[in-house]
Amino acid sequence: PQINGTNIGNDVKSYTPHSIRSNHGYIHGNSTPRNALYDSTKRCLDLLRGPGGELSQKLRSIETRYIEQISNEIMDGDPNVRWDDIAGLHHAKKCVNEMVIWPLLRPDIFKGCRSPGRGLLLFGPPGTGKTMIGKAIAGEAKATFFYISASSIASKWSGEGEKLVRALFGVARCRQPAVIFVDEIDSLLSQRKSNSEHESNRRIKTQFLIEMEGFDSGNEQVLLIGATNRPQDLDEAARRRLTKRFYIPLPSSEARAWIIKNLLDKEGLFELSTEDIDSICKSTEGYSGSDMKNLVKDASMGPIREALKQGTEITKLEKEDMRPVTLQDLEDALKEVRPSVSPNELGQYEEWNNQFGSLP
Ligand code: ADP
Repeated sequence: PQINGTNIGNDVKSYTPHSIRSNHGYIHGNSTPRNALYDSTKRCLDLLRGPGGELSQKLRSIETRYIEQISNEIMDGDPNVRWDDIAGLHHAKKCVNEMVIWPLLRPDIFKGCRSPGRGLLLFGPPGTGKTMIGKAIAGEAKATFFYISASSIASKWSGEGEKLVRALFGVARCRQPAVIFVDEIDSLLSQRKSNSEHESNRRIKTQFLIEMEGFDSGNEQVLLIGATNRPQDLDEAARRRLTKRFYIPLPSSEARAWIIKNLLDKEGLFELSTEDIDSICKSTEGYSGSDMKNLVKDASMGPIREALKQGTEITKLEKEDMRPVTLQDLEDALKEVRPSVSPNELGQYEEWNNQFGSLP
């Protein structure tokens, strides 16, 4: 990667309100007051300065506006998820801890033959907690979290995608330890090749592979996590770079019970018996974590719907008078919220896991 070009020198050093206006057109079509823009750019650049106040060499040749876009739109300094928020997946959590979090926390120990892979793939059905795991890794390792959805790179960043990819990796290198989470990574690193593959997509993909290559050779504490529910679409180059590949399956019955209890407990709406929970867990075989969340959301409307049916006005409804969620509410919700993953899709994941997965 041409991280050490010369162009940024000018771009960043000449950073003044004037240069922002004249060079980068931030003011165009934007009603934000000039001072606020100046402050926001200054703040995000300040985050990237070294102790001596200088902008890192790593950002040389990257235009300020791309750095700002990355810092403002996809960087999250405090991804608010911890391991305890994620139901089940005990084995995956344990392995991620050893293979990914410890090395980020103790780079001094995890070097040489202990040096970790820089790429991790989380694959499995949608809504099973892959994004949550990415955020939890960043949270537990006290790392900066960068989230992008690969499918949006091409559409939203059209034409300048590869420059933003470079800026993304550049900013991440400045904010180490860092976790770059690429959702739907298959749409970026797919093996489906066609002549019609858009030129700009091809450039984004090439840039991405170059940046990932750069990872392994350096001592940087930047971890790339790709998430996909189409692992079979990934090409060989992507598989090679994502050295650890963890299957994140649908939640077990125990994990589903945990999700229900946890979500209702938070709102003071939990009063179900063990038998109620057992019964609802039996009926939700095949539901994803996200389906379970939707189920609980729908069921938690039950007490409100009932009160309104009995003639209470919504404006007069007292929070304290509302009853907890019952088994009946959950059973009613089951009619509305159906599982989003079909059972025959699961076979594909297991097959791919047997062939390429890292977790036994
Ligand atoms: P994915 O990235 O696998 O598509 P997400 O991590 O975005 O799924 O999960 C979507 C939502 O579903 C989460 O915000 C959370 O509310 C719920 N969820 C999914 N899996 C779990 C889980 N294992 N534990 C707790 N909540 C979960």
